[in-house]
Amino acid sequence: MKLDVDVLRYLSKDDFRVLTAVEMGMRNHEIVPTELIDRIASLKHGGTYKVLKNLLKHKLLHHDSSKYDGFRLTYLGYDFLAIKTMVNRGVFAAVGRQIGVGKESDIFEVATEDGTVLAMKLHRLGRISFRAVKSKRDYLRHRSSYNWLYLSRLAALKEFAFMKALEEHGFPVPKAVDCNRHCVVMSLVQGYPLVQVKQLQNPETVFETIIGLVVHLAEHGLIHCDFNEFNIMIDDNEKVTMIDFPQMVSVSHRNAQMYFDRDVECIFKFFGKRFNLSFKEHTDENDGSDVDSDENGRPTFSSISKLAGFLDKELAASGFSRKDQDDIEKFIEGGIEKDRSSDTEGTEDEEHESESSETIKRTLDSLHLLEKEENTSNFIEEGKVYENQQSCETGQNNGSESEEASDKEEESQTLNTGDVELVKRLNKQRRRAIASVRGGRRSLASRNSYKDKGGKSSQNSKLKKQLSSW
Ligand code: ADP
Ligand code: MG
Repeated sequence: MKLDVDVLRYLSKDDFRVLTAVEMGMRNHEIVPTELIDRIASLKHGGTYKVLKNLLKHKLLHHDSSKYDGFRLTYLGYDFLAIKTMVNRGVFAAVGRQIGVGKESDIFEVATEDGTVLAMKLHRLGRISFRAVKSKRDYLRHRSSYNWLYLSRLAALKEFAFMKALEEHGFPVPKAVDCNRHCVVMSLVQGYPLVQVKQLQNPETVFETIIGLVVHLAEHGLIHCDFNEFNIMIDDNEKVTMIDFPQMVSVSHRNAQMYFDRDVECIFKFFGKRFNLSFKEHTDENDGSDVDSDENGRPTFSSISKLAGFLDKELAASGFSRKDQDDIEKFIEGGIEKDRSSDTEGTEDEEHESESSETIKRTLDSLHLLEKEENTSNFIEEGKVYENQQSCETGQNNGSESEEASDKEEESQTLNTGDVELVKRLNKQRRRAIASVRGGRRSLASRNSYKDKGGKSSQNSKLKKQLSSW
């Protein structure tokens, strides 16, 4: 998807206010009634309709009048909201060229105020699969865009949390800087994906390092699940960095052994083919670990002594707890159940509109969020999805609270847990990450972005703060 960020410059406060209002309305409306948008946005001088027209022109919204007059966000609209938030937080000041198109993401260079270049990953769940099934229509279609926005956000949150936890345990991963909506900002990895590398000085060493990483991950209780030449970066000194974590699972996952073996096999196959390595020699002595190898030299999952509890403890510290994972599972399963019983019609003309049920299941599977199939829930039901709904409906715009406060509020809404401690910890982590990627220097913007206003605010004033920041 093209990301024309120039448009960002021409969008007014009112534009962003209305865009945010649509996002809020989407918490329990697939298509947000125009009237409700107007009420949530509460523009001081009116004119919501004109603003909506402008947003529509820039393809930030999609208009739907099939059942009633309403709008919803497009991916581009969602991108702009995330980018605007990151800019307000002082995470970066400019968006540069696109450096990667992943299976289900777009990766851009972004630059901080002092010129440090970072990488921004925008998650786009279901994009590839969507193209393959564009013509198919089924019972899920009317809710797909709503679901994709939400799932992309979960993928980003999960990736950010894993990156953070892995980094803290000394794994070679990008430095996780910040996360908002479907967007993760991280340090820019120097080098290329292994798939582009035709020659290595020391293929055996690189191979050992990479297999060592798979084993080391398992010892820490984790399996990458997509560990291949596309998700391993390598620089001119043949230093390895692993990327792409939304699909990682715990070693206690019911299919852990299969995922582990698959990751190992991918690496063996690739090195065998590309660098003509033969693996019979890859024995226990070679890798210097206690891990046994099978008759083909592959490390065996059962011989790895795994560190239990890594997921629970470490990820909780990074903002993605076991409970979050359970909540996510409930949300998704609840969504599917509700869709299954519905027969409403969807619109036909927007890119991310349609998904087949298999595609959705495949995507959910790849996120490994659907572990308890029998567990259905009402989580998605109107009025229950988000605690903040009430305040969305009645929010008014008065007062002019600062962006810093709105950031904090928005973060706590995003996490949807009310866990003030967690939000504080996340803000601290973000401050540290930006400072460290910048080599310890912090810009004025970032200093200003994290002032703690203190005090507990009601849901209503949270909304006011968030809205008045645009
Ligand atoms: P996907 O989940 O869609 O596969 P990835 O995280 O694997 O996305 O990223 C896709 C591509 O973007 C990678 O193959 C790589 O070329 C590039 N990329 C991703 N993250 C970074 C980064 N931090 N620094 C440099 N390039 C990156
Ligand atoms: Mg990838």
